[in-house]
Formats: sequence, C-alpha cells, structure tokens
Amino acid sequence: MSSAPPAGPTPSGSNLIGVVGGGQLGRMLALAGIPLGFRFRFLEPASGCPACDLGEVIRADYHDAEALAAFGRGLLVVTYEFENVPAAALETLAAGVPVFPPPASLAIGQDRLREKEAFARLGIPTAEFRAVDDRLGLDAAIQAIGLPAVLKTRQLGYDGKGQRVLREPSEVGPAWEAMRGVPLLLEAFVKFRRELSVVCVRGAQGGVVHYPLGENVHQDGILRTTRAPAAGVSDRMKKDAEAIGTALLKDFGHVGVLAVELFDAEAGFLANEIAPRVHNSGHWTQDGAVTSQFENHIRAITGLPLGSPEVRGWSVMVNLVGDAPDPARIVGVPGAHLHLYGKKPRPGRKIGHVNLVAPSPEGLEMRLALLGEVLPLDRA
Ligand code: AMP
Repeated sequence: MSSAPPAGPTPSGSNLIGVVGGGQLGRMLALAGIPLGFRFRFLEPASGCPACDLGEVIRADYHDAEALAAFGRGLLVVTYEFENVPAAALETLAAGVPVFPPPASLAIGQDRLREKEAFARLGIPTAEFRAVDDRLGLDAAIQAIGLPAVLKTRQLGYDGKGQRVLREPSEVGPAWEAMRGVPLLLEAFVKFRRELSVVCVRGAQGGVVHYPLGENVHQDGILRTTRAPAAGVSDRMKKDAEAIGTALLKDFGHVGVLAVELFDAEAGFLANEIAPRVHNSGHWTQDGAVTSQFENHIRAITGLPLGSPEVRGWSVMVNLVGDAPDPARIVGVPGAHLHLYGKKPRPGRKIGHVNLVAPSPEGLEMRLALLGEVLPLDRA
C-alpha cells in the first residue's frame, strides 16, 4: 500500500502526475489536469499514443525496472488509466511515490472473481457465480448455477472479450476447449431490463460524490451510448446505486474515480463489474456535468476538494467506433461536443466520442435526430 495522499497540488514541490498507460483515458486526464496547473508524464510501450502529445512519455514496457525508476522520479503521484497494469509494476512505483487509486483497488478490478467476491462480502447483490479451474469444476458450476450461464475469463477481459454465453449443454464442450488454460468464472445469465452504471469519486480526505446514473447500450460487446441522467430512476434506485458505490470505495480505501456497472433486473440492481478508474460510461460528464470525471479524478488523487457532480442538462454520449467521422458536420449539431483520441480508424476501434447535451429531454431528442443525420445512431 502507498503512503498517505498528498495534501495539495505541490506538497513535494512537484506538480508532475505520472499516468501508467497513454491511451485515451490518459489523454483526457491530462486535458482536465493541465488547467489545474499539473503536468503529466506517461509510461506507455506504444509510439504515437493518444496521450503522447500531452506530456513527457517514457516509452517502455511496464516490466522494465529501469524505465519504472525513471518514470517514478520526481512525481507528485501516480495513477493508471487501464486495468491491466502489472501489479508488480505498481508495487515497485508505490515504494517511492503515492499511487492512487490504491493498488488494492486495481488488484480487485483486474480479476472478475475478486470483484464478485467483494460484492458478496459487502452484501451487494450480484449474479450467482463459481470459480472454474478445470473441466470438472465447470461441470460442477453448471450443476449449481444451471443454464443459461456466462463463462468468462477471470482476467484481461474487457468490452465483452473473453466470455461466452452457454445456453445448451452441447455448447459447454466447445466453450471449454476455446477458453481453457486460464482461470475462469461461471455466472448465471441475468435477464436484465437494461444496463446502468454509477460513476463515483472518493477524495483524499474520504469525501464521496456520485454522478447521476447513466444508461448504457452495448453492441457486439462495445459500449455504444450512455444516456445521463438515465430515465426512470426512482429515489430508491438512486440510493441503492450510491450505496453500492460508497461501500466499494470505502472498503477498497479507494481514492479517485470508480465506476460500477449494474444490471437493472426485476428484483433490483445486480452489480456486474467495477472499473477502478475513469470509465467510458462517465465520458458524458465532460460536457454534461459541472465537474467532469477526469477533473474529479485529478482533484481526488492530488488532495484537492472534489467538484460538483451535478448535471448541466440532459446528455447522450455516443462512441465513435471504426469509421472516421466528419468533425465539421458533428460540431454543427447544436449541443454536440466532439472528443477525438488521435487514433487511426480501424473496424471495431473506439476513436472518439460525441457528447450531446440539451437543456431538456425533449430538446435532447430533437438534437439526437439532427446528430442521427450525421452518425449511425440506431441504438441511442
Ligand atoms: P462484461 O465484460 O462483464 O462487462 O460483459 C459484457 C457484456 O456482456 C455486459 O455489458 C452484458 O451486456 C453482458 N453480460 C455480462 N455478464 C452477463 C450475465 N451474467 N448475464 C447476462 N449478460 C451478461
């Protein structure tokens, strides 16, 4: 575990924030943190990364001990922008500089089984689950949970990768052959009405804020749109979601943003997974909230007071996946804000997003109709 959070932006005389990973989340953290007076250094193996233009870059493998030492030198604090950071790299860094969110949050967020165990330990409802380490274990898990069920890898799964739905006994053998060799998890298949997420932030002094729930639509395992605030959220649902977020933040001793994906099911919320970092379902906050998730993450990890999570209107975030968009047409739509990541378009690749904001739900629908003339919006 790292030492106590820094009490302000420059207690160590440094205003340099280290970010492990140089992807789009790192880019947007820097875009939010630079106006607060911080500078950024990224540790990233790839060249031409989305964050590369926004600070110093140490281009090296995450396991490279010399590069880790150079990266950590003179930093105020280290954060990370994706889950698959090797735990050992963070531990090495944590010996010399505060790391937030704490490595404990990352260790749980990297492993779907540990996430589920945390939900169960904290009394947070989740789909029934069993760890699967061998074929006998899979058969026993199916016996206990029944079909349909979802077989998932415990680690390195994202955007729906590393999972298979098992509907019939005949699908079990082929799924096992395709996924065996790594630790797995079997979950009951949840018949949910929709997917929501709660993005929350815990500051260095322990204060917590929650953004309003967002409603997420996925296609081919990739998030396509988030609407926020989600429609049809009762006070009870808001309270339940916030209680889930707060319980996790406190239990992990988390500092920074944490997102919790929830299935909205007949019996109430079932937690699906967490992300111990800024999250795609919180991108709408850049233009639709008083303080964005990126700014609040930077505020939290540097010991600054958290900003208001209140909304500035009704928002839809639309991910740009695959094709190059036409910026002029997008920003020509009233209330549309374009965020490109500097990535080459490729099928299935997230290359940016559009936040569309309006002062009323009706206004948002009108603006969405205009945006629909520019972008494929079949599921927004
Ligand atoms: P994940 O990678 O766990 O977020 O899963 C990707 C998507 O698969 C989710 O957003 C859901 O749409 C779906 N999914 C995951 N787990 C389940 C489940 N237990 N039951 C039904 N659908 C699921």
